[in-house]
Amino acid sequence: MIAVSKCLLGECCRYDGKHCMNKKVIDYLKDKEYIGICPECLGGLPIPRQPSEIIDGKVYSSSLQSVDDAFHSGAEKALQIIKKHGCRVAILKESSPSCGVHQVYDGSFSGKKIAGKGICTQLLEENGISCISSEEFE
Ligand code: SF4
Repeated sequence: MIAVSKCLLGECCRYDGKHCMNKKVIDYLKDKEYIGICPECLGGLPIPRQPSEIIDGKVYSSSLQSVDDAFHSGAEKALQIIKKHGCRVAILKESSPSCGVHQVYDGSFSGKKIAGKGICTQLLEENGISCISSEEFE
């Protein structure tokens, strides 16, 4: 069983109410068992919502309200779902403050990316789940 960021599957769960369907990921999953997860939705954040970025290890919305608790609670819920389904691997949307695998936005809300991992990705990797970036399918 593979866990996948729901927005890659075409679910409109992104902060802007859109999806980022990745046909190559969907093709790869065609003959496999998988489950979609959206950590930010699991953390109770609405759709749409303000974009968020990580600043000094904590997550803030673009109006600089802390959303750190929601991000961590969503990551925990995603981990529980992943464990329940016995997933060992997750395919995650690159650059997201939840799901980024190799890079995240730098906290300046200016579109600049830096090396780093999303909050959910960090937790999954700490728990032995292999996280694969959506960009590895491009
Ligand atoms: Fe996609 Fe992850 Fe953001 Fe949800 S939290 S919209 S699954 S990148």
